[in-house]
Amino acid sequence: MSLFGYPSVWVVVAALAGLTGLVVYVTRLNWRLEHSKRVLENEISERRRAEEQLADKENRLRQIIASEPECVKLQTLDGVLLEMNPAGLALLEASRAGDIIGTSVYDMIAPEFRDAYRDLTHRVFAGESGVMEFQIVSLKGRRRWMETHAVPLRDARGRVVSLLGITRDITARKHAEDEVRLHYRELAHAARINTMGEMASGLAHELNQPLAAIANYSRGCLHRIRSGGGTVGDLTQAIEQVCTQAERAGDIIKSLRRFVNKEDSPRLPQDLHAIIRETLVIAAPEINMHGVDVKLDLAETMPRVYCNAIQIEQVVLNLVRNAVEAMDEVEPGQRNLAIRTWHADGIATVEVSDTGPGLPGEMRNQIFEPFFTTKAAGMGMGLPICRSILEAHGGTLTFAMQEGRPGLVFRFTLGLTGGRSGR
Ligand code: ADP
Repeated sequence: MSLFGYPSVWVVVAALAGLTGLVVYVTRLNWRLEHSKRVLENEISERRRAEEQLADKENRLRQIIASEPECVKLQTLDGVLLEMNPAGLALLEASRAGDIIGTSVYDMIAPEFRDAYRDLTHRVFAGESGVMEFQIVSLKGRRRWMETHAVPLRDARGRVVSLLGITRDITARKHAEDEVRLHYRELAHAARINTMGEMASGLAHELNQPLAAIANYSRGCLHRIRSGGGTVGDLTQAIEQVCTQAERAGDIIKSLRRFVNKEDSPRLPQDLHAIIRETLVIAAPEINMHGVDVKLDLAETMPRVYCNAIQIEQVVLNLVRNAVEAMDEVEPGQRNLAIRTWHADGIATVEVSDTGPGLPGEMRNQIFEPFFTTKAAGMGMGLPICRSILEAHGGTLTFAMQEGRPGLVFRFTLGLTGGRSGR
């Protein structure tokens, strides 16, 4: 302040400077606020755009799922259905989503498949994916075959929140497979009857032996009884022989009846070595008639194989008969048939080898073709049937020339199940 009550020049200058500073500060603040507002507006419109894009995407996804011809569903660990598209509702013969959503998937799965489906669900919630075939019972009570591909659906943190299942109706395929199986069963049965027809004379001869022995022993007994000669011990021995021979004949007939039986035995864990031995009972007359030596080299232990015993017997018999017939072309004394078995890595292998002439190169590609035969009375269906039997069991049938000598080696494989059988 000056002496006369007026502000000094310096005070005015200072006030002006302060004011100018304030104006600059406010302008800057204003500018910053403007800038922040613009940024905020930008962010809001970006977010809105992103939300719109997301909604568009979700809408598109929903439309795709809604028009998807397969059933698409979401389900909880307990089996509660969260979502299902119209194709799924149609499969279940539901008229509205409300009939299905919120209910349990287990209400639609046929009882015999529920445990397996529960296992699949648990595996999916543990992070795996899986495929399963099962039957459903629709809301109208109709059974249909389904194949489902189930995968885990995860949230942003990677936790599995539901099971995503894509399920298709495979009823038509299953029926077609059943028909093929039926035809093929008929064919295999016809082939067995045909084989028996071809082997009839040899088998009659084989049966004649125990019958002739029974007649002889019985006549001997009668003679001793009538003549009053012979001790109780002699008679007992002769009657024991009668029983043994009758049992032998009975065993042959039992094997034959089993072999030509039309009813398929179910697939069960079977003793592979017992199947091979049973086959050799049926093949024995032919083997003997053709003067063939048989060598069995069976694995010391052989876990059970999961199979239809009669069909595997049919395979072994076909391979043995082919080998026996092929060796007609070599000198007696050089006709050796060997059957070897072993197992490794869950697979049992059976090898049937012979010392016959083998096959010329150009025929080797045709051997599994239906109706390929080099025999005058051959049908050419034996090996194709054997191969289909083994493939239906998940096994294989292959062949090779013997190493360093004539003859063929056929090898087939089957899966193992666990229980053991000896030689
Ligand atoms: P088929 O016995 O009626 O001829 P297969 O399908 O069993 O029908 O056999 C087809 C053909 O494969 C036989 O005709 C024969 O030429 C050949 N073959 C099969 N096994 C042998 C073998 N062990 N040695 C030589 N040829 C064989």
